[in-house]
Amino acid sequence: MKKSTSLLLTLFTFAFMIGQEHSHTGASAMTYPNIEGYVTLKTDLHMHSVFSDGNVWPTIRVQEALREDLDAISLTEHLEYQPHSEDIPHPDRNRAFDLALAEAAEHELLIVPGSEITRSAPVGHSNAIFITDANTLMESEAEKAFTAAKKQGAFVFWNHPAWYRQSPTGNPILSDFQKKRIANGELHGIEVINSMDYAEESLALALEQNLTIMGTSDVHGLIDWDYTEKGNHRPITLVFAKDKTLESLKEALFAGRTVAVYNDLLVGKAEYLKPLLEQCIKVNAVAYEMDTLVLRVELENVSSSDLLFENAMSYTFYSKPPIFTIAAGQTETLQIKTLEKVSNIDLKLKALGAFTAPKEQPIVEWNIVVE
Ligand SMILES: [Zn+2]
Ligand SMILES: [Zn+2]
Repeated sequence: MKKSTSLLLTLFTFAFMIGQEHSHTGASAMTYPNIEGYVTLKTDLHMHSVFSDGNVWPTIRVQEALREDLDAISLTEHLEYQPHSEDIPHPDRNRAFDLALAEAAEHELLIVPGSEITRSAPVGHSNAIFITDANTLMESEAEKAFTAAKKQGAFVFWNHPAWYRQSPTGNPILSDFQKKRIANGELHGIEVINSMDYAEESLALALEQNLTIMGTSDVHGLIDWDYTEKGNHRPITLVFAKDKTLESLKEALFAGRTVAVYNDLLVGKAEYLKPLLEQCIKVNAVAYEMDTLVLRVELENVSSSDLLFENAMSYTFYSKPPIFTIAAGQTETLQIKTLEKVSNIDLKLKALGAFTAPKEQPIVEWNIVVE
């Protein structure tokens, strides 16, 4: 239901694209490193097809996910909003999942069964994923839909709580409905990033209510038109799972082991975001420049996010400003003025595009041994 691109804008974008040369760098697969004890799963658990108000067949969602090398997706069709139902009547609300599952059969992509429970504010929209039967969630009262989802063992998250069409201030409002769902164990996560929107207030709610931090595309059109052709990747949730299975993915979501990512924006609890950032940077070479006291450190960003850092050490740099970017997949060299020869150094950088709470950016540390 949340469409950020009008048809007109889409047509304009397309006309603009075919009129000029464009790069396909954005079409490359996404990559994020594992953290200690967990594999990092790249997931997009909120999207639509023609089986609700999306514009593509479910197989396209699978193919798009393969192009970006995602590990798991969920087609979360609106249960109640069915604008294509005259052309595509579908009494069985599990149909989009079945088609996606068949398309993904030959691939490693996990398909998570899901549905979007759709109401006006204050109930709003929520995704129930890992459900066993979407049809049984079609209840007239929203409360009953949440009860049915809980009965199926579903992981449920609050979608775009800050959406200005439902909350004109652009801020989430935690209503009695959500408070009850949280108290009943029927609401477990919250989108802090939905399509191109990030709400710090939603992050504050996630931390305050101990909800799992989510980022999703909520795509209705084409990933290519909405993101890739503009040089972006879709928003995703990185999930730190014990292994790459549906069962582990579900366990990790319930345990809150996530980081939401949209390009160079990374949002998550410090205990997961800091180790992730630490792993995103590989230290390739360390040596003093000739006979000087200037230590040369080569850093490689092995993630798909451009990482913006600020020097958080008392040492200053010889040739770089204190704020610098290491682009995705690229290498940067720091020249650190250590004033005396040291045998190891704690490199400390504040990650300016990463948030562990509103206005709070983590300082990441790497202990570097000088050869
Ligand atoms: Zn929605
Ligand atoms: Zn949606």
